[in-house]
Amino acid sequence: MARREPIAIPKGLFDILPASFSLKEEAWRHVEHWQKLEDILHTTARQYAYQEVRLPIFEHTELFARSSGESSDIVSKEMYTFLDKGERSLTLRPEGTAGVVRAYIEKQAYAAQDFQKVYYIGPMFRYSRPQAGRYREFYQFGAEAFGFDSPQQDIELIDMLWTVYHRLGLKDLRLLINSIGDMGCRDRYREALQNYLRPHFNLLSADSQIRFEMNPLRILDSKDPQDQALLKGAPCISDSLESSTKDHFEEVLAGLDALGIPYEVCPSLVRGLDYYNRTVFEITPPAITSQNTLGAGGRYDDLVASLGGPKTPAIGFASGFERVLQAYLEQHPEKRAATTLQLLFIPLEKSALPPIMQMARTLRHQGYAVAIDFGLKKLKNSLRQADKLGVRFVALLGDEELQKSCLQIKDMQKGTSEVLPFETFLAEFQPRYGSSHV
Ligand code: AMP
Repeated sequence: MARREPIAIPKGLFDILPASFSLKEEAWRHVEHWQKLEDILHTTARQYAYQEVRLPIFEHTELFARSSGESSDIVSKEMYTFLDKGERSLTLRPEGTAGVVRAYIEKQAYAAQDFQKVYYIGPMFRYSRPQAGRYREFYQFGAEAFGFDSPQQDIELIDMLWTVYHRLGLKDLRLLINSIGDMGCRDRYREALQNYLRPHFNLLSADSQIRFEMNPLRILDSKDPQDQALLKGAPCISDSLESSTKDHFEEVLAGLDALGIPYEVCPSLVRGLDYYNRTVFEITPPAITSQNTLGAGGRYDDLVASLGGPKTPAIGFASGFERVLQAYLEQHPEKRAATTLQLLFIPLEKSALPPIMQMARTLRHQGYAVAIDFGLKKLKNSLRQADKLGVRFVALLGDEELQKSCLQIKDMQKGTSEVLPFETFLAEFQPRYGSSHV
């Protein structure tokens, strides 16, 4: 057969693999860590009474254009948009909120219950220059709460995200928070900011010049040092807030204080999407670089109505798996992906396979994770393999043991071994080896 070139993974994508699959893979891509974070997410969301939703990977392009806003980075440059065979414009979802809101309206979830709280986990797609912490396919978990405009709802949602990070073991996180007011305040502020920046327009970065008319608030987000210097004397959005919005924000901050969640009010925090209002927040690891916000969110009280539903207050967040796991492994470099395997059977002869198949099945059906090395290799090689797998116990079965219906069980950690009859091995598996996985 003609030699075929192997095909590489597309740019900006990555595989999530068991630690044992690729020795070269960076630790944050080990599936064991992903599963740990997912377990924490499912448990925490259940305790906070958020239900899971699983939504399509692609939606009508118009959904994202209408929700995120034409001028957002996502819609203006980052969407994976294609025409299907029926000439419909579809887009791989760049974020999760739009799909959840679409489903909320389409299924009339507001009629089923006054409030709805949901969460999701899944891949998102954005076409941007790949770099550390920024990928073209990445995973987000997010939560959305519909129906309550209470500041307590904001606190609950932030607390849930904070708890997820805390349970994973992330330390010294910073919660940056701001209020960007309602539509009215934002319009007033947009004008004030434009008036302030207009005399300096030529000094602004190219990106900020584009944003000046379309979305001037985004200039506050600019990482360009000259923009930052110009912004030093800019008016503050907090000066434009109406009293009801100010009260809302004060209550959010007081609630965070009451729960002992530290925060920093950050007047330049505006978030990139059009739909936010009132509370916006980001959570970052201790050292901030532009690319390492772990999770972010905010209120979007007008989005449901603007997408054709009834007026519904709402708030949500989204957080990227990659950056969270990168931060986790930076803070805990000792955390190796641990195997869940409890025992590896090593048959030394072909004739050992039938009893091993029986015993493995019995143990598996009792709930244990058990593997069999079918390779019939040299014992030395099989043990090296066991070592790589990180499994603590191996059970050897050769001619000698087979004749006595016994197994030799090796403790790879302690370097000890014992010989047990089949029945004793099965009957005493729990006390002897049952808690061997980490
Ligand atoms: P955003 O939807 O842009 O507010 O992003 C929310 C979170 O998703 C960020 O804080 C990141 O953790 C993650 N995120 C956003 N874009 C990317 C990307 N291109 N690659 C990896 N993670 C991302």
